[in-house]
Amino acid sequence: MSNNTAGTRAETEQGAAQSVDWGDAISDGGLVVVSNRQPYSHTYDGDDVTVEVHAGGLTAGLDPVMQAVGGTWVAWGDGDADRQVVDENDCVPAPPDDPNYTLCRVWLDDDEVEDYYYGFSNQVLWPICHSALTNVVEWERYWERYRSVNERFVDAVEDHTDAGDIVWFQDYHFALAPAIARERVDDDTVLMQFWHIPWPSWDTFRGCPHGEAILEGLLGNDLFVFHVPRYRENFLRCVEMAIDDADVDHETGTVRYDGHETQVTEFPMGIEVDKIAERAGSAEADEFWAEFTEDYPVADTVAVGVDRLDYSKGIPERLRALEQFFERNPEWRGELTYVEKGSESRTQIQSYKDIQNRIETAVERVNDRFGTDGWTPVLFFDEYISQKALAGLYRHSDMALISPLRDGMNLVAQEYVAAQIDDDGVLILSDQAGASRLLDAALMVKPQNTGAFADAIERALSMRGAERRARMQHLHEQVAENDLPTWTGLNLRAAMALRDGEGSVREPGLPTGG
Ligand code: UDP
Repeated sequence: MSNNTAGTRAETEQGAAQSVDWGDAISDGGLVVVSNRQPYSHTYDGDDVTVEVHAGGLTAGLDPVMQAVGGTWVAWGDGDADRQVVDENDCVPAPPDDPNYTLCRVWLDDDEVEDYYYGFSNQVLWPICHSALTNVVEWERYWERYRSVNERFVDAVEDHTDAGDIVWFQDYHFALAPAIARERVDDDTVLMQFWHIPWPSWDTFRGCPHGEAILEGLLGNDLFVFHVPRYRENFLRCVEMAIDDADVDHETGTVRYDGHETQVTEFPMGIEVDKIAERAGSAEADEFWAEFTEDYPVADTVAVGVDRLDYSKGIPERLRALEQFFERNPEWRGELTYVEKGSESRTQIQSYKDIQNRIETAVERVNDRFGTDGWTPVLFFDEYISQKALAGLYRHSDMALISPLRDGMNLVAQEYVAAQIDDDGVLILSDQAGASRLLDAALMVKPQNTGAFADAIERALSMRGAERRARMQHLHEQVAENDLPTWTGLNLRAAMALRDGEGSVREPGLPTGG
């Protein structure tokens, strides 16, 4: 078997494990992480099997933790060669280069992927949690399959969990699993979940036909964690409104229901700040930038956006603001290029096809309207680039335009800050991103307020060096204080406090995050 990561989505993340000190923390039990996506998949390349490393925020963030702690990671085996490499328990050592934890795969057939993943997870829960209406008609089929797939994941959890272990569910794909697991695992096992996306207000959530069952599922957790307090407050309110018998204490974030107590809190997820700064300063980052500016007509001043092509990211709105900016400021034509690094996402879903078409049309519109022979106002590209190249793109961009309509956190905003090793970039950030709560030295915008967004671009371009540096240094501090090891520590220490009977994770003295 060849172990080829070249040309795949990321470099392996070996370095981080050593810098994180979790070993003694979990000493009394193991860690079982459960996520939809796996950190590594095996795929065929002709007759060879190659390893693909997934670079997405969640998997890239948890892999160093697993490398440091050891334990088991349960995830959907979506690689076409995944079955070939597993043992009789469907497990494979990970990371493939230098294994120190176990990756256990759950197999899903096409119908399950269609209904559980593209259906209920991404066409029902994702829009509702981003406060958008959904026009799904296949609710019942999606729901039934969502439930059965949640059960299948719990089967795997049960097989790999001992008393005293910490089981850490990730995200909205597993809203039912905690209550199912609660019935099956030992009482000493801590069940916890991190919800990586927003939680909506009650008035939005009440439109979810299976809302009560979802809340009951989540209340199987001992610890349930969001990025920011607003989502926690929304969740507690939903529980209060939907479940008559639940006893909700907003101050301590405690819910008592059906003889069980769930602590609800918030720990904002961060990034590996040093690693991104290191990548931004690497020779490969500079080489990428030199080639990029040679291959494309890039103006002297550059604005950047990096997004999964999702309707929640506010990309058409951003392009409108740029259009208005060029309309109002003809002297900037030819002087500023906006680079949009997109990556295709969930293209099986019609609303994602639609948004990708809308983005393409908007890019063409701005370029047709203002572009000249020597200058393209918007450069859109969706090819894979390495993590070092991405850090180079961040570093060499004079500003970042990050304008989601709603976003649980937005790690790209933090990555842009970490990559500003010269301290001279400006971050324009939507106040609808969870990140806006951490990064208060950014220029805040409402994505749909086109005029004010265009004003913010003007302001960024005219900002003096001293102010740019002061703001960026402040942002650096905020990103460093909330980095990924801090987030992991807050989550795992809170889980251990519960396991070891140390009471509420929101009591004074225990950190509650942003
Ligand atoms: N990302 C990437 N290439 C892309 C777009 C995004 O590697 O073309 C990464 C990005 O660096 C970040 C993650 O994907 O680590 C996106 O996380 P974020 O929280 O910003 O948004 P999400 O996609 O999770 O909604």
